[in-house]
Amino acid sequence: MPNLTTLGANDLRAVHEDIRRRYQAFAERKLKLNLTRGKPSSKQLDLSNELLGLPGADYMAGGVDTRNYGELQGLPELRAQLAPIFGVSPDRVILGDNASLSLMHDAVVYSMLKGTVDSDKPWSRESRVAFICPVPGYDRHFSICAQFGIEMIPVPMLETGPDMDAVEKLVAADPQIKGMWCVPKYSNPCGTVYSNETVERLAKMKTAARDFRLFWDNAYAVHHLTAEAVEIANIDELCARHGHPNRAFIFGSTSKITFAGAGVALFASSKDNSAWYLKNMSIRTIGGDKVNQLRHIRLLNSNGGVAALMDRHRASLAPKFEQVLNTFDKELAASGVAKWTRPKGGYFISLEVLDGCAKRVVQLAKEAGVELTPAGATHPLGKDPHDRFIRIAPSFPELAEVTEAVQGVAVCVLLAATEKLLQ
Ligand code: PLP
Repeated sequence: MPNLTTLGANDLRAVHEDIRRRYQAFAERKLKLNLTRGKPSSKQLDLSNELLGLPGADYMAGGVDTRNYGELQGLPELRAQLAPIFGVSPDRVILGDNASLSLMHDAVVYSMLKGTVDSDKPWSRESRVAFICPVPGYDRHFSICAQFGIEMIPVPMLETGPDMDAVEKLVAADPQIKGMWCVPKYSNPCGTVYSNETVERLAKMKTAARDFRLFWDNAYAVHHLTAEAVEIANIDELCARHGHPNRAFIFGSTSKITFAGAGVALFASSKDNSAWYLKNMSIRTIGGDKVNQLRHIRLLNSNGGVAALMDRHRASLAPKFEQVLNTFDKELAASGVAKWTRPKGGYFISLEVLDGCAKRVVQLAKEAGVELTPAGATHPLGKDPHDRFIRIAPSFPELAEVTEAVQGVAVCVLLAATEKLLQ
């Protein structure tokens, strides 16, 4: 494929016709493929099937009857197992039910209705509440903001994480900026890993709001796609060192370690924040699902623990990511009309097409039988101002389907680009 951006009109028209024929041939196969779902495949879920037989009749956990109410904070042994993954001490970990998204939602709601430990008043009584939203980002973070009328201020993602010059300027100037969404490792959808410098600047920066919070969604803490187990700087320690011990609300879960719909989620933060969270949570529930916590303790203690389990996930996921990257390299690299991320972990690849083409690519793909995440989903209110980003999620389909789907996507990218360039 020649570089389409430098071709003369006649050559471009010839290439366009050729690509259109390829597109039609692909569409005529009437495939039904789906690259929208950032969820584990059935084979990945099978890796934790032992959970289905646990805990069995032995339902006691260190003297705690897991069938009964109580232990609001969660079973100590599971807190101790998960705490090192998130870089905090177990006494400051709180286990929730199956979804960390619910805990993020609750932390926002508690802050809105009650205020944080550093707030003068509940955020809902402020004239305006704004969050910094690195883009491209995770649509469900943006939905939480939209749900509660929180203004979203987009900041571009760089290779090192959010554009920190922009972030520092914004938070220093505006006391109504109360929060920021961060997926610090293998971010959704770029796969970006925040550099140590970025993490330190986030911990250190001066914020006009005393009750500013980092919503530190470490959803992909151990979800490596290569042999390199990438580590990031410890946000909890750095915030404390720079005099902002309450700044980071840390979230995580075992959703993509064990069962995506039946794992265990966690909140972790400073001593004061954890006490605050627990107090609010105590009104909401008498206690979490300790039977599920106990079966997780047993599963994660067996067969080599979390690291070995994540290696088994990697064996299933990595070939799918390689397939996407190889196809893009082969079909698109020389074309000059697309670029994409090469994540070392997580669940997504971010594909960047020519400005004004993302929606068209998604539409073409749909008409040819390949579902993609709607263009714009990676931005607040579903609006990508340059109509440029597409999220590719190769985890759920079988490898053969990923192979076919991504071939189709590459053709759609080329077709949309030639249409655009011929305008
Ligand atoms: N955070 C990020 C960045 C995600 O990508 C996802 C799922 O795709 C979640 C959170 C959801 O996590 P949970 O299942 O724990 O709610």
